[in-house]
Amino acid sequence: SREIRLKSRPVGLPKASDFELATVELPAPGDGEVQVRNLWMSVDPYMRGRMYDRPSYVPPFQIGQALQGGAIGEVVASNDPDFKPGDIVNSMFGWREAFNAHPKSLAAAGLGAITKIETHGLPPQAFLGVVGMPGLTAYVGLLRIAALKDGDVVFVSAAAGAVGSIVCQIAKLKGHTVIGSAGGPEKVAFLKSIGVDHVIDYKATPDVVAELAKVAPKGIDVYFENVGGVHLEAAINSARPSARFALCGMISQYNETGKPEGPSNIIQAVGKSLRLEGFIVSNHADLFPQFAKDMAEWIKAGKITWKETVEEGVERAPDAFLKLFTGENLGKMLVKLS
Ligand code: NDP
Repeated sequence: SREIRLKSRPVGLPKASDFELATVELPAPGDGEVQVRNLWMSVDPYMRGRMYDRPSYVPPFQIGQALQGGAIGEVVASNDPDFKPGDIVNSMFGWREAFNAHPKSLAAAGLGAITKIETHGLPPQAFLGVVGMPGLTAYVGLLRIAALKDGDVVFVSAAAGAVGSIVCQIAKLKGHTVIGSAGGPEKVAFLKSIGVDHVIDYKATPDVVAELAKVAPKGIDVYFENVGGVHLEAAINSARPSARFALCGMISQYNETGKPEGPSNIIQAVGKSLRLEGFIVSNHADLFPQFAKDMAEWIKAGKITWKETVEEGVERAPDAFLKLFTGENLGKMLVKLS
């Protein structure tokens, strides 16, 4: 079985040489263990944070060891009575083609449990995107953190990505005016196709402050923050009194080696009584059952659709990951494993 290991801690934008492909011998599963062949793995922006050696809400990746992340696989052998060959499972054993794990001890440790998935006719990889962690992130950030309410005008950055595209659609199906920002004509066309009212192509018109002021002359009430820098500056500038900002991520800073670009107008948060609140999706798992129910209904009713960008083969995983930072993904970035 092949896996991708961290070879060196990236400085700035990660390079192919920061990763290495290794082959490991996978023994038959031991007592209480399952053997899983991965079908799909996720690459996510937060993984960049785990490549730094520093304390955070998740421990750093270790040099010389396989990376970790969300994956969907099929049980091929099992010594755990709760799993049988053919079961589709969700795990945190991404970045590898196959693995052995002890579901009971993982569950007891409260760490990266192996969860059986009932796909309900959805493609299994949807559980790494629209009905998985990114979908829940959109739901939590928009409905709980930003506390979306009637009449709100919503601004979303990285709007054509895994999280952003779901934020846009949840806000649209609830009847809101939505402004999305993304890079490039293909993403602009996609956002228009899902009903986004105004799209800012920040690569074509980098003065996001001026662009947002133009398309939202009366201002915005909610900002779903994925990017940071000039996007945050624009949102503060266009915020109406008592606007709420869900701070989900700031991807423009993840590879920054110098002093990151920050908003120079944060003082407006005082006079406008803004609320800026960060969140980590795993702290809001209590919303998962409600999210799963709502999302299933929205998908069934055709109110939510999604895009995937797929690389094939575990050896392509580092490239897939890098593409998140060059914006080469439309919707959820995934790696298909054979
Ligand atoms: P996406 O699918 O949105 O992929 C990342 C996108 O970010 C790219 O496609 C690119 O789109 C955009 N981007 C990259 N670099 C820049 C830059 N310098 N300036 C502007 N845009 C940039 O990823 P996800 O949906 O998985 O994640 C979106 C955000 O949500 C990230 O910030 C992530 O860290 C955060 N997140 C936070 C969670 C939490 O619990 N708080 C959970 C999950 C995600 P474009 O072509 O438009 O530039």
